[in-house]
Amino acid sequence: MHTELLNAAESGAVEKAAEIIRNGGLVGMPTETVYGLAANALDSKAVAKIFAAKGRPQDNPLIVHISAFEQIRCLVKSVPEAAEKLAAAYWPGPMTMVLEKSDLIPEIVSAGLPTVGIRFPSHPVARALITAAGVPIAAPSANRSGLPSTTTAEHVMRDMDGRIDAVLDGGVCGVGVESTIITLASDPPRLLRPGGITLEQLRAVLGSVDVDRAVLNPLPKGAKPLSPGMKYKHYSPKANVIILDGSEQAYADYVNAHKGPGITALCYTGEEKLVGVPAICYGGETDYAAQARDLFEALRHLDDIGAQTVYARCPEPKGVGLAVYNRLMRAAGFEVLRLG
Ligand code: AMP
Ligand code: MG
Repeated sequence: MHTELLNAAESGAVEKAAEIIRNGGLVGMPTETVYGLAANALDSKAVAKIFAAKGRPQDNPLIVHISAFEQIRCLVKSVPEAAEKLAAAYWPGPMTMVLEKSDLIPEIVSAGLPTVGIRFPSHPVARALITAAGVPIAAPSANRSGLPSTTTAEHVMRDMDGRIDAVLDGGVCGVGVESTIITLASDPPRLLRPGGITLEQLRAVLGSVDVDRAVLNPLPKGAKPLSPGMKYKHYSPKANVIILDGSEQAYADYVNAHKGPGITALCYTGEEKLVGVPAICYGGETDYAAQARDLFEALRHLDDIGAQTVYARCPEPKGVGLAVYNRLMRAAGFEVLRLG
């Protein structure tokens, strides 16, 4: 299959992508979080192609994207007051709400669950595409299953060339990590995945919000997570990633005591000067938004330079930094060394 690269800024590009979606095809779609792999959410055959193109396990449900709040009503059983409040505060934006699904949502989208995740993205190209397609759009991250999510059209092409119909290039994603997922099908509501909308922001609207155990911890063997995606190894470069938890100085000392072929540092901007090994930097130490924006690019870059063992600084799980911590922990398979 030929994969066409469409520039979203050129006239007719969004309409062309929308036509592909209406005809049951797949399009790489820019959003403010990461690129999505978009198909008509109401077309089971089109959605099946998403799973095939990604190599995604069938039990990992997809998020459904809308371009106006009112579109949610036919996709879920009912819209609770909490959903109205969250939507008023943070939609359009990087937040997914899990609610009981309506019969309109095909089983393949929800992976057999009675619930569905719905998001109203803020990216102008995503909104235009959903509106032009005239259908809700199912879209997981546009990466090969297990690899880091994609934040540029070039990364989507690298993973998906020949597997999908088109990529709509809308530039670099601003948030850089996938959406915050909150389920309103639990009482109290529960954070399933941290993202661009922080736990503090959710609590400011809802009061009490639980944090699912899988946000900060590895899943015990055989356990069934509320968010099925949490059980898979994720976001992984080919290299073995080890997180070093300690001060900047302790980090630099450890890395410098363990130099060798393929040893690479994953650290904050400016810290490359402290380590005597090749370093990939992402964001400043307390600039959590920049860390989130640049994390996946940095993880992909590690493969480009042939890193074998990566010593990563331990992110602070604060604000958007909680999402960075959550993704990097998964990239490292939860391997953390506490430095004294
Ligand atoms: P991705 O779009 O690749 O970031 O993956 C979507 C994530 O949303 C996966 O981790 C899913 O487990 C999660 N998800 C989607 N729908 C639901 C749902 N109905 N209940 C819980 N988690 C969901
Ligand atoms: Mg994903």
